[in-house]
Amino acid sequence: MDGRLFGTNGVRGVVNEDMTADLALRLGKAIGAALGGDVAVATDTRASADMMRAAVSSGIMAAGSDVHDLGVLPTPALQHYVRAHGGVKGGVMVTASHNPPQFNGVKYISSDGTEASREEEEGVEAMCSQEAPCVPWGSVGAVRKVAGAGEAYVDSVVSKVDAEAIKAAGLRVCLDCANGAACETTPMLLERLGVAAVTINCNPQGCPGRPSEPTEENLSDLLAMTRATGSDLGIAHDGDADRCVFVAGDGTYVSGDKSLALLSRHALSKRKGAVVTPVSTSSLVEEVVNGAGGSVVYTKVGAPTVARRMIEARAVFGGEENGGLIFPEHQYCRDAGMAVATMLECIAREGPLGGQVSTLPVYHTVKRKVGCPEGMKADVLRHIAGESAGARVDDTDGVKAIFDDGWVLARPSGTEPLFRIFSESKDERVASSRADRYEAAVREYLGRRFD
Ligand code: MG
Repeated sequence: MDGRLFGTNGVRGVVNEDMTADLALRLGKAIGAALGGDVAVATDTRASADMMRAAVSSGIMAAGSDVHDLGVLPTPALQHYVRAHGGVKGGVMVTASHNPPQFNGVKYISSDGTEASREEEEGVEAMCSQEAPCVPWGSVGAVRKVAGAGEAYVDSVVSKVDAEAIKAAGLRVCLDCANGAACETTPMLLERLGVAAVTINCNPQGCPGRPSEPTEENLSDLLAMTRATGSDLGIAHDGDADRCVFVAGDGTYVSGDKSLALLSRHALSKRKGAVVTPVSTSSLVEEVVNGAGGSVVYTKVGAPTVARRMIEARAVFGGEENGGLIFPEHQYCRDAGMAVATMLECIAREGPLGGQVSTLPVYHTVKRKVGCPEGMKADVLRHIAGESAGARVDDTDGVKAIFDDGWVLARPSGTEPLFRIFSESKDERVASSRADRYEAAVREYLGRRFD
């Protein structure tokens, strides 16, 4: 196989078309050879989970490594197991996260429990392109079934929050797991924290119940049920439960940038320092963080990049506005269990979520897409930078032109032949007219080049 296998979050494809047992076997062999020791394997609840786990595990054993089979687990629970067990050299999560049910994939976890770096992925890609060597028959690995990794993760999360304050608050929640990997662990976590829960889509039956991406339009049942049951909070995960989004008690969807802002403020109330987030995140977070005595460090888009920058900056918190939240006091990866527990602690201490959201400044964001051939992306970026007179230009990821009253970010997609344009301002008309101007600039430049 040539070229890149790993995208922004692992290798993914349609099962038995792009993501075959053969590919999973070769990935397993390459990962086993790269790690050279025991590998922990877990899956989400997809119908193809058993086929994928068996294939990737066979590959790992053929490379001479033992497999710790953890069963169905959230990605952050697998990451917790890898970090907590010194004898384990790394992990494989069989999941396609929020993609539709026909997809599956492989996320590669490093020995420290973080998502593998680009260099580590390139090593595995190179080994997949040749035939990775197998060990002699006497050195073939074995499978060890491991029970209790979910409980250990829940115990660890509970130890990081003020469980007594949460229990004393007598909170009620509605929980929607998309029939995914958190169907056992998040209800267990809520029970441990004394929180009464009504559940929806909490059957690990291989069929998601609703599309696995926790967007507002996919969560209409949860919004209605949170309101109808008089709950304090609605909670939704994506398929592998590394991400978490929230619903206020009145059934209002709370966007990821708002929960990122509120949990940043909560983290800064305990310790001052940096909050790390990609350049595409709303300035809402920076305004709230600055007001709480912290500072924002911006990175390229992608959770592994955010996590690694958090380690360097000794950050107090970090995350993405899609509900991927990273808690350095626990582990350097998106951690939906910690997101649930910390949001409950935040509500127990600071009052209802809806009231907290109403204290946040309001920003307007306009998003656009413009088709652009792969070979033109670099030229377009240079052109946009040149068009941004009067702005401060940040080239961390794409071109971000920062004005006094807002910003525009033009980013080439890593996977599709297009540019994404984000424009944000407190003034809705400014956000939309600036999006118009940059979209037109890209189209005009491409038009000229093709005339
Ligand atoms: Mg996910």
